[in-house]
Amino acid sequence: MKKNKLTKKIINRNMLFYKIIFENNCTYSLILLLLISVFLSSCKNYTHNNIAQENKIEVKNEINSGVKSEVKVKEENEYDNKEEKRENNEVTDGSGDISIIMVGDILLHSPINRSCMSDDGEYDYTSIFENTIEEIKAADIALVNQEVIIGGEELGVTGYPAFNAPYGIGDALADAGFDVVCHATNHALDRGKRGLVNCMDYWETSHPEITVAGLHESADEKDDIIIYEVNGIKIAILNYTYGTNGIELPADMPWSVELLREENVVKDIKKAEENADFTIVCPHWGTEYSLDVTQEQRKWSKLFCENGADLVIGTHPHVIEPIEWVEDGSGHRMLVYYSIGNYVNWTSGKGTGISNRMVGGMAKVELGYDNNGNVTINDYGVDALVCHLSKEKYGVSVYLLRDYDDSMACENEIRSQTGDFSRQYCVDLCNRIWGDTWE
Ligand SMILES: [Zn+2]
Repeated sequence: MKKNKLTKKIINRNMLFYKIIFENNCTYSLILLLLISVFLSSCKNYTHNNIAQENKIEVKNEINSGVKSEVKVKEENEYDNKEEKRENNEVTDGSGDISIIMVGDILLHSPINRSCMSDDGEYDYTSIFENTIEEIKAADIALVNQEVIIGGEELGVTGYPAFNAPYGIGDALADAGFDVVCHATNHALDRGKRGLVNCMDYWETSHPEITVAGLHESADEKDDIIIYEVNGIKIAILNYTYGTNGIELPADMPWSVELLREENVVKDIKKAEENADFTIVCPHWGTEYSLDVTQEQRKWSKLFCENGADLVIGTHPHVIEPIEWVEDGSGHRMLVYYSIGNYVNWTSGKGTGISNRMVGGMAKVELGYDNNGNVTINDYGVDALVCHLSKEKYGVSVYLLRDYDDSMACENEIRSQTGDFSRQYCVDLCNRIWGDTWE
């Protein structure tokens, strides 16, 4: 998985400059070059989420500044290689790659909210993301499943069973570098219509750069498909939940939460396929705590695939499930991550199987595209994550399993609820479910 996507974008621009120099062998090509560089620097390439993408580039500039010289060298070297290959017709202009990551459930049980609250009552969830932030920011598109509604402090902050999160979690998600927040979950209506409306208003006013999936503010918006554009490639993102824990959708907003209903799903995927180059479906589905894929998940996967979806990343079981390719019989293949587990949680559960809820995955997919707009999955995998629980203020955090050692595992508070948690337990679980796909 490549990390410095900014580098790639800069390379494409440099190549354009050089192309002009070669093709216009006279002095005013330099003037033209200067004009184009001014134009390009102010040009917004992205249609749907231009603000989000521009911000992302700015953020990446900040991150890359720490290794600026290294990045510059890499650019020049890559340019030389690409130019060489281009002369030998090995690289087609307009080709490139796009990295996508997604993490699972942000499931804010009460001890997490307490850990992230300052003495004067302010919520700050930065600590939860600080050990995975580089991976999140490096992606062209970063998605997250926001399991609980963000209804804000005025509705009262609560954990299980009827959750409500403070706005601070949204600020932390935005700061961490997520671009798309999936909100179609079974907890979307835990605080009824007020929770929903507060949540949508919050995103719109505080973080208009974030794309909210799975919720709608108006009936008109219901038929819109989210299309995220990167380097001119259009990626559709669809998000549905199997239900809302038996709570009826508001009578005057029956379209407010995207439900996994066949008629909707088929219509949306077809529309996505007509308007985008690649379609991602994020279903909130499956059976809680089941490490196995259900018949229901297989039935939906078949339907997604037959209608043309390309990638599925599932959430809700709170544990990890297998990753596999599904085929529709006519040669179309779709990659499915059935469940990427929790990103963060502090269950009150005790005993066998509880450790499984501490292991999650960061799905990583790299798309390749050519100048004809053909998009393919070039590479995929998953980074194993561990949720670290601590009673210390701001002590709850999520680590890449490769960065998590035995001594840290010994200090994880989950050990007071289940005796079997260890680093090796997490490794064994990943091996069992993901085989050699994980890192
Ligand atoms: Zn759920």
